[in-house]
Amino acid sequence: MPRIAMGGFSHETNTFSPISTPYESFAGRGGDGRGLMDRDDLLQMRGKKYNNGLSGFFGFADKEGYDIEPLLYASTMPSDQVARDAFERISDQLCELIKEKGPFDGIYLSLHGAMVVEDYQDGETELLRKVRKAAGNIPLVASLDLHGNITAESIDLSSAMAGFRTYPHVDIFETGYRCGQVMKHLLQGKPLFKAYRMLPFIIPLSSQTTNAEPARSVYALIDDLENIPGVISVSFMEGFPPADIYHAGPTVFAYAETQALADEAAQRMADTVIEREDEWVCNLIDVDPAVEQAMQLSNKAAKPVILADVQDNAGAGSTSDTTWILESLVKHGAKGAVLGLMFDPEAAEIAHQAGEGAQVKLGLGGKLIPGQEPYEAVFVVERLADGDFPATGPMGKGRITNLGKMALLRIDDVRVVVSSARVQANDQSYFRHVGIEPSKAKILALKSSHHYRADFEPISSAILQVAAPAAVIDDPAKTPYKHLRPGVRLGGNGPVFKG
Ligand SMILES: [Zn+2]
Repeated sequence: MPRIAMGGFSHETNTFSPISTPYESFAGRGGDGRGLMDRDDLLQMRGKKYNNGLSGFFGFADKEGYDIEPLLYASTMPSDQVARDAFERISDQLCELIKEKGPFDGIYLSLHGAMVVEDYQDGETELLRKVRKAAGNIPLVASLDLHGNITAESIDLSSAMAGFRTYPHVDIFETGYRCGQVMKHLLQGKPLFKAYRMLPFIIPLSSQTTNAEPARSVYALIDDLENIPGVISVSFMEGFPPADIYHAGPTVFAYAETQALADEAAQRMADTVIEREDEWVCNLIDVDPAVEQAMQLSNKAAKPVILADVQDNAGAGSTSDTTWILESLVKHGAKGAVLGLMFDPEAAEIAHQAGEGAQVKLGLGGKLIPGQEPYEAVFVVERLADGDFPATGPMGKGRITNLGKMALLRIDDVRVVVSSARVQANDQSYFRHVGIEPSKAKILALKSSHHYRADFEPISSAILQVAAPAAVIDDPAKTPYKHLRPGVRLGGNGPVFKG
């Protein structure tokens, strides 16, 4: 019976984020499911259909009867580059466990692909270098987030890697499962050839969702390619643009039983993305026109109109505390509007001190991005909440969540869901926890790039993507890159980066 090690280290680094990433960010167990997971924590993933790669890999490995040795898994919310000592400590712990518990016949890692470390532009490449040294030349298969910025070197260091195929990411379990299938192929000693392509333009986050074109059809091609006999695995990574590194951007990689098949699959995938270059562009509406349009649409609509605050996405390293849309909703006298999540532990504390029904004068949000200001106003504390609750949406279903002290604050007919954890608004439970039924709102302002779509798109009548400034800059042409590779185009058919 093959003995397989399992572990991971995951961070999505936004090098423009004002939030630092020290070791402490990975330590402990956050209510958002992040933190440092040890062997026992990882065993909790077994036999479950949680939306993560570890559960997925267990799903395949247990079916095959592999002897799995869970090591450790560290992750935290997206933020600025990982502190060098945090990276070394965690990767050393992982490598020591590999040496201590080994030898193994294979190793599976759950990675992100967009980790930047102080001193290393690609965290995964450095991690894989260390793991290779500790584990030796055994099959090493890794799952990756579709936002990975993947280097050729990391492809060389691993035996195979496979990325998610959905954004919102609802196929993370399936990706872990597919890694199991590739592992089996390798354990059987069958040939596996690799092909890798870096694509010539950056894809803005706002055009990446697989719920819409062009990504929907482009990702559908993967199934066709994998149906070709001898093609084992194909991935298309849309990349993570808010990362000022040489290799930021989309990549394609394929694995097959011959080099020719791998090359052909990768090339067809790359050509398909490039053919539709003019569709991978930003499509955001300025704050005031977006709010005005949402108010007009919501008058006639039976379901909420969504204002997606795509650039203030905690899930891409922003602060989730900007106030542009809140300010505009109040200024325009919007009716039945609900905004979330506003990350402001200080405001939540003030509301808890004051109690339900109280009026509080405070500066809400606007505290974390230099140059931004809190929104000063008198709010009614409508509801307070705290403690654990289960997530209910497709991405987090079954996961016990805890966003710390929460408050529902109201100003006029605009309500704000305040949280003490920095998490993107991708689950209706976050709103229900403070007594809001999201489907009953006229306007839902959600701080999220696309993950909200998994749980909220089905209850909405329209979606408007808003250009409110925050720590995620959607337009690659407006992103202050210094280290990107010269020659790459900034957005579909965008200007060429000159360096
Ligand atoms: Zn992602």
